[in-house]
Amino acid sequence: MSFSFRLEHTAGAARAGVFVTPHGEVETPAFMPVGTLATVKTLDPDDLVEMGATMILSNAYHLHLRPGDDVVREMGGLHRFMRWDRPILTDSGGFQVFSLAQLRVITEEGVEFQSHLDGSRRFFTPELVMQIERNLGADVTMQFDHVIPGQSDATSARDASERSIRWLARCLAEVRRLESGQPLDEETPREEFPSANPRNAQALFPIVQGGIHADLRREAAVAIKGMNDWPGFGIGGLSVGEAKPAMYEMLDVVDDALPKTHPRYLMGVGFPEDIIEGIRRGVDLFDCVAPTRIGRNGAVFTRDGRLNIKRAEFRTDPRPLDPECDCSACGRFSRAYIRHLFVSDELLGLRLLSLHNVHFLLSLARQARIAIQSSELDSWSRDWLARYRSAPALAI
Ligand SMILES: [Zn+2]
Repeated sequence: MSFSFRLEHTAGAARAGVFVTPHGEVETPAFMPVGTLATVKTLDPDDLVEMGATMILSNAYHLHLRPGDDVVREMGGLHRFMRWDRPILTDSGGFQVFSLAQLRVITEEGVEFQSHLDGSRRFFTPELVMQIERNLGADVTMQFDHVIPGQSDATSARDASERSIRWLARCLAEVRRLESGQPLDEETPREEFPSANPRNAQALFPIVQGGIHADLRREAAVAIKGMNDWPGFGIGGLSVGEAKPAMYEMLDVVDDALPKTHPRYLMGVGFPEDIIEGIRRGVDLFDCVAPTRIGRNGAVFTRDGRLNIKRAEFRTDPRPLDPECDCSACGRFSRAYIRHLFVSDELLGLRLLSLHNVHFLLSLARQARIAIQSSELDSWSRDWLARYRSAPALAI
């Protein structure tokens, strides 16, 4: 079996496990740095290996538009194209179609939209997205789903969740067709979509939707479980504008409804407090653009909360970004120097903040894993959050 999940320890709902993929093992809980366009902004793959990143994320919508998934396939697939020989997950583009693209028209067949790059008209169907993700060749692919705002009412949430489940059935059928080499029709050659993944195995994750409505989340989980023996589960549509307590409640609901034996990936969630709260509720995998995106605004994660390096008070501060961090930025440079780079628009400033922020979240997930293994997750997470939240308001 190409994919498996091994549970090593549990602490309440929290789990320490190992997700086995054709490109290596991922110790969980884990944070996945986001390389939307086949690059984690400002970082070299060697930086990510040095920081201990095991799995990264990329995006089907963005890579389809540029450079084109056909280009990536021709270059040997995403692993070879971006020189990353560890596991990769591709998001299907559902979120991007609904958040970035303009003039969306949603029908049962799919979504027609305008590219955010050049305004060209596009039509995504579950089948097309599976073909794109196969061309990219990531280890884990996500289904195409109907994403809605976090505060959507029960009627809209039900409509989107039920459509996502119908689209999941189409995604699964298309994956099976592609894997079997069965042609689309008489005219199409059998080799139309050979897998770009040299190890020739991809795991399709379904996505549990349902907004902030517990009954819808439960119904979605039950329906999805009944369709297939999935290698893992995505939890979508959270951290998209709803209140934090509502998100945590939905995680509790989904934790009860999904099998304990499979990995769970909470999509797009990755601020430190949310990673800890997610781990406590049985989530294994996280991703978020936050560490590189907020870094571009000068924001820095530290054990004592967020700070903004642009502030004048750091002009002559000799300390590292976070005195307790062992990343390569904190090991060498002062806040004063990084502030100078940043206010001078020097590229190294952006790079050092990305290095630190990504390292911070990778390290946080590793610390949580150790706390689960030593049965100290409750006290560790309580202390961690109390200190992180007690800091003076230096956040951006
Ligand atoms: Zn650091």
